[in-house]
Amino acid sequence: MINRKQVCIVGAGVSGLAAAKAFAARGHEVTIVERSGDLGGVWAPSRSYPDVQTQSPKDLYRYTDKAMPDSYPEWPKGPQVHAYLTEYAADHDLLRAIRFNTTVLQMDRRPDSRPGWRLDLKGADGSTSHADFDFVAVCTGQFNEPQTLSLAGEESFTAQGGCILHSSQYSDAALAKGRKVAVLGGSKSATDIAVNAVNSGAAEVTLVYREPVWRIPYFIGGLVNFKRILYVRAQEEMFRSWGIGAMSRLAHAIAKPFIWANWRGLESLLKVQLKLGKCDMVPEGRIEDGVNCSIPIATPDFFPMVADGRIKAIRGSFERYDGNAIVMTGGQRVRADVAVLAIGYKLGVPFLPQAYRNKLVDPDGQYRLYRLIANPDLPELGFVGFNSSFCTVLCADLAASWLVRYADGQLARQPTEKEMRDNIEMMLHFKRVERPAAGVYGGLCVAPYHFKHFDELLADIGVSGRRSNPLVEKFTPPDAAAYGRFLALAPDYRATA
Ligand SMILES: Cc1cc2nc3c(=O)[nH]c(=O)nc-3n(C[C@H](O)[C@H](O)[C@H](O)COP(=O)(O)OP(=O)(O)OC[C@H]3O[C@@H](n4cnc5c(N)ncnc54)[C@H](O)[C@@H]3O)c2cc1C
Repeated sequence: MINRKQVCIVGAGVSGLAAAKAFAARGHEVTIVERSGDLGGVWAPSRSYPDVQTQSPKDLYRYTDKAMPDSYPEWPKGPQVHAYLTEYAADHDLLRAIRFNTTVLQMDRRPDSRPGWRLDLKGADGSTSHADFDFVAVCTGQFNEPQTLSLAGEESFTAQGGCILHSSQYSDAALAKGRKVAVLGGSKSATDIAVNAVNSGAAEVTLVYREPVWRIPYFIGGLVNFKRILYVRAQEEMFRSWGIGAMSRLAHAIAKPFIWANWRGLESLLKVQLKLGKCDMVPEGRIEDGVNCSIPIATPDFFPMVADGRIKAIRGSFERYDGNAIVMTGGQRVRADVAVLAIGYKLGVPFLPQAYRNKLVDPDGQYRLYRLIANPDLPELGFVGFNSSFCTVLCADLAASWLVRYADGQLARQPTEKEMRDNIEMMLHFKRVERPAAGVYGGLCVAPYHFKHFDELLADIGVSGRRSNPLVEKFTPPDAAAYGRFLALAPDYRATA
């Protein structure tokens, strides 16, 4: 018999909703604690910049049990994703479980020495309280604590009317109209904001970035949706993955020249299609060495705007503010009214006590998470959505289905603590030594190994994640609805009081 647990879900974004649905569906009592006044996390309107849209095609960015509406475009806009998430929460009766404007300040083991955690909470009015839970799912994402950058001259820049904001604060295109905008960063957010500033009538737009990176257009060669080339098992298998045997290593060695030619072909195509030479933005590294969650989709119009000078691109970084200008590390001086810092977010779980954070994260920043979900030294605790990717909704959905079974001891392959530790060490070796690109974002990125990750989760749950037709299996992108059907075949159970 499985006892019903009081479960706290921290965060009401994509991952928190997936976790809440999975635990509630198994009969657990769920409370979702959300520090903002809305659900959706990065897709909440107050946190989205204008024109934001998914990088992922809509059928890759969805839950297993709910497609995005047919009326949505292939790459939905931010408000559409938010509406989809709101509807998902309503479908599963999760809205009543959300405590909005409530922040988890701190958590620690329960004082009554029962298994579980005590959470210290702060309400909107500043009042504090605490609550005890049998299990906690941390679903706080990787985009919550903006990175900061303090530079000399900042005060006089703002005193003269200059405005400095993080990319997450660029929520109104009117900020750019008629003004000189300088964006720092090379991520998708940086290029999206630069393009939005041009389209919003900025007087001048400058993008300052460290080095050119490969960017993938929505349509490769102008014709083929990138998901049909980069998101298929056949492509994923070109990357040597972890835990493979001698035969697979041999097959990789034999196929090496063909794999090499495949990537050089893609690079040549991208150089021509995106006019990288004309923009002086040809990356130095090989594309296959950088495939992970940090490889961005090319913002439509970004390269044409760089090529014709509507966006002035400068390599380097901001060094200091000087009056109403920004001085770059290369010495260039750029007049600016608005400085947008698209410099990313701090990774972490600040409300976990330091002693537990030390068990969770190694000194080099690598996370110690089995299947990117659980740690044997952090009992009654799991992480959903930490297995980030380009199909994060599906990743969170599968991680949530895995986590509830893990919490209930109902995985078909319920791991022992030793198995978890050995696997964590093996994965850390893979990320540190065999494929350093897999170590970005604390090692919390499953790209380009989506299928392998999903296969492992489903095998743990006790079902196969493969379709019967081998050709369809090799050349079809992850199919969320099919994963829903696989999950439905897993042994059923319900927690009772
Ligand atoms: C602009 C943008 C575009 C993106 N596009 C894609 C895409 O196309 N494809 C893709 O796969 N991924 C994309 N991502 C990544 C995106 O982060 C994930 O897809 C997904 O939305 C993450 O959801 P989450 O629930 O894990 O985290 P979040 O959306 O960050 O939600 C976390 C929630 O936790 C809450 N929270 C944090 N700390 C606390 C606390 N102490 N107490 C209470 N609540 C707390 C936050 O308020 C937030 O609501 C994009 C990200 C951004 C920023």
